[in-house]
Amino acid sequence: MKSFKFLLFLLCLFLVSASAASAHFSYSPQRHITSTHSSDVKEYFCVDATDSNVPISTVDAYKAVKEVLYSKNYDGLANNKIYFIQGGAGETACKNMTSEQLSSTPFRYYIQDSTKPLCDGTSSCVVRYGEVKQSDGHSHYDYGVATLRYKTFTNVRDYIVNHETGHLLGLPDGNGSNDCPGSIMHSKDYGCSNGYPSDPTQKDLDAVTTEANSN
Ligand SMILES: [Zn+2]
Ligand SMILES: [Zn+2]
Repeated sequence: MKSFKFLLFLLCLFLVSASAASAHFSYSPQRHITSTHSSDVKEYFCVDATDSNVPISTVDAYKAVKEVLYSKNYDGLANNKIYFIQGGAGETACKNMTSEQLSSTPFRYYIQDSTKPLCDGTSSCVVRYGEVKQSDGHSHYDYGVATLRYKTFTNVRDYIVNHETGHLLGLPDGNGSNDCPGSIMHSKDYGCSNGYPSDPTQKDLDAVTTEANSN
């Protein structure tokens, strides 16, 4: 019994020190889409719901993603360095874009029933492409693909669009129940008690602004 108490004590010590270590907002690993540093290069995006198992049209999915990106949160940060706008000259479905249209569209959202092959099937995730290591060790990417699970997109749309967009803008996930400062990145999926918040917090927005304004 005594050793159990000692173990409990050790566990508490670990939790206290771990939460102290993560009380600041961590950027590590620093990685973001290159366009976020520039006021001239906009955050062109496309949306795709052409998965035959998804019962919404790409047009409706595009409208829904656009509403979240435009009306809330990240758009306009860092004096419009973050500036979301439709890519592809009238074409909204990523899969229907020409390679030229696609290459200038770095924010790509695919709504799928299963999130494979880029994610594990049931979780939404982001995969980045075209890594260019910067001299200070952080990474720039040409573009990123956010695969959003249709079920999650239906149930907690604002959350999942803002969370995955947060990744593309450089925000990392939370790392567990001892890491629950208010953030769109630290939700119920990471052991936090805030459920699935709709919007990034001011801290998230400040972090993205700092990231866009740095190198
Ligand atoms: Zn995440
Ligand atoms: Zn950078």
